Amino acid sequence: MSFAITILGSSGALPVFGRNPSCQLLEVHNRHLLLDCGEGAQFQLIKFGFGFHKISHIFISHLHGDHYLGLMGLLFSMQLNGREKELHVYGFPGLDETIVTHLRHSGSVLRFPLRFHVLTYEVRCIWEDEKISVTTLPLKHRLPCVGFLIREKQKPFRIDKTKITAHTRLQDLARFQQGQDAVDEQGRIVARYQDFTLPPRPSRAYAYCSDTAYEPALIPLLQDIDLLYHEATFLSAEKEKAADTLHSTAAQAAEIARAAAVRKLLIGHFSARYKDLAPVLAEATAIFAETTLATEGLSIQLDT
Ligand SMILES: [Zn+2]
Repeated sequence: MSFAITILGSSGALPVFGRNPSCQLLEVHNRHLLLDCGEGAQFQLIKFGFGFHKISHIFISHLHGDHYLGLMGLLFSMQLNGREKELHVYGFPGLDETIVTHLRHSGSVLRFPLRFHVLTYEVRCIWEDEKISVTTLPLKHRLPCVGFLIREKQKPFRIDKTKITAHTRLQDLARFQQGQDAVDEQGRIVARYQDFTLPPRPSRAYAYCSDTAYEPALIPLLQDIDLLYHEATFLSAEKEKAADTLHSTAAQAAEIARAAAVRKLLIGHFSARYKDLAPVLAEATAIFAETTLATEGLSIQLDT
């Protein structure tokens, strides 16, 4: 099943050089999730061929405008498109008030259920189903801000076909896949699942760290991550500016990726001062080779 991340916006607070504010679309096991919703998010969805109706969950990392000002436009378009399916929106307190204020003053009543979930500044599983979970990661920023860790649940154990005999019962294979032993009618173990299975395929994970200063406390939370998105607003030459505004440099993003031993790093939220992003990429790759620049329309599929 797919686990794909598409970049809809890669810029910092000012959208310049054809870059849009933060927004990413995740397609995981046919679930469609939006991470942040910067201004113009709906136009980016259209541009890159995604419908609005499939989006079931929107996660807003914090309430700086470049991370959520596209939300109302998207909600109104969902309304005009006749959406009936419920939508889950996650944000810090105040986002709910903002939504209600817009609706009230435009005399609008949403025809679809909008479930608002309040974020808290802590490590917490905020949503899970049988395939994936979403956990918040506290970031170090000027407002309460969290990243999101999207992780697949453990997959079934794989049946080792070389171990199957004519006596192996079909119903036991299903138990083995779930990591359960085969039992007789008295409940006694007659075959252990370890003897018939290979380990599950690895579960994939993506971490989205939107706006944050260099934060080593993230490192233990970023274990077994296939792809880490970490902001890289500045070059090291602007290290002081990064510290003052609680943002990171490309080198700091790469340091976090290296220390956490993630497989790949994606950097974004670039300052409007950098038209040419080659130096930003060079600074990161000098520390962590497997780094990619987030650019609008880039789609990354995590390997199974
Ligand atoms: Zn911010």
